[in-house]
Amino acid sequence: MKKLTISGLSKTYSNGTTALKEVNLEVNQGMFGLLGPNGAGKSTLMRTIATLQSSDSGNIKFDSIDIQENQTKIKKKLGFLPQSFDFYPNLSAWDTLNYYAILKGITNHNERKNLVTEWLVKVNLYDQRKKRVGGFSGGMKQRLGIAQALIANPELVIVDEPTAGLDPKERNHFHNILSEIGEDKIVILSTHIVDDVSDLCTDMAIINQGQVILQGSPLAEVEKLTGRIWRKIIKKDELDWYSSEFEVISSHLYMGDIRVIVYSDSDLSGFELKTPDLEDVYFKTIPHQGDIVGGE
Ligand code: ADP
Repeated sequence: MKKLTISGLSKTYSNGTTALKEVNLEVNQGMFGLLGPNGAGKSTLMRTIATLQSSDSGNIKFDSIDIQENQTKIKKKLGFLPQSFDFYPNLSAWDTLNYYAILKGITNHNERKNLVTEWLVKVNLYDQRKKRVGGFSGGMKQRLGIAQALIANPELVIVDEPTAGLDPKERNHFHNILSEIGEDKIVILSTHIVDDVSDLCTDMAIINQGQVILQGSPLAEVEKLTGRIWRKIIKKDELDWYSSEFEVISSHLYMGDIRVIVYSDSDLSGFELKTPDLEDVYFKTIPHQGDIVGGE
């Protein structure tokens, strides 16, 4: 069993922003979700694991290899899909993927040709293989991105905010590709979209202001809230009162009114018991103090 162990990782940027504070995480094989709001430190952590930047203190071990001290060794085992790509716009999809395959050390011409073909088919870009990447949509670039991340069969795969900016169909396609990655790999998926984690991950952590505030299995964390999540539709001007009287974990616009989601160990009369989901876990963990977080 492969394992990634992050111990006491801290990072403060030169402008004084502390992005990571003593982060400890243990990541096993399978799909791991790193969930947190914008600015939480996810990209900093992803880039540090991908050996693209250094930390101030702490270490990251992949199967007992210190990744910051053995960057060349780790790079061979690593597939990284960053938030956005700067592909050369005038290269075709084929030439782009072929170029990345060369960079990853796949030197045998025939092996490379077969892999490039296989991956262009897998990410549904084979028919567009001769087109220039500069004309590709966000979703197509993202698919080419995952092909370059996986083409050399990495053991550790890092995926940073993959579905931001994708339409629902592209997002679905992207999830299907990710879910087909073998269970023998460690895949870390960083996102601020709760559904990405509930759809795909068997283990997760929530990070906020540079700190890990929860680690566990999404299923188990959701189950812990059974019988404790309540909802009620209220008028907008009642929100302040409800927020002061109850532990409101989130509030959503609902046909002109507001639906409040409340955490309570004991029965609440006038409220309806709600089946908990991962969004409730997320908002319970990261306080939103009465902000209206979404509509329906
Ligand atoms: P996330 O990916 O969760 O949105 P980031 O790791 O990008 O979070 O950012 C964490 C914090 O560090 C934010 O406050 C961000 O503004 C800051 N930050 C990120 N990169 C830099 C940088 N290169 N220089 C200074 N501050 C940065």
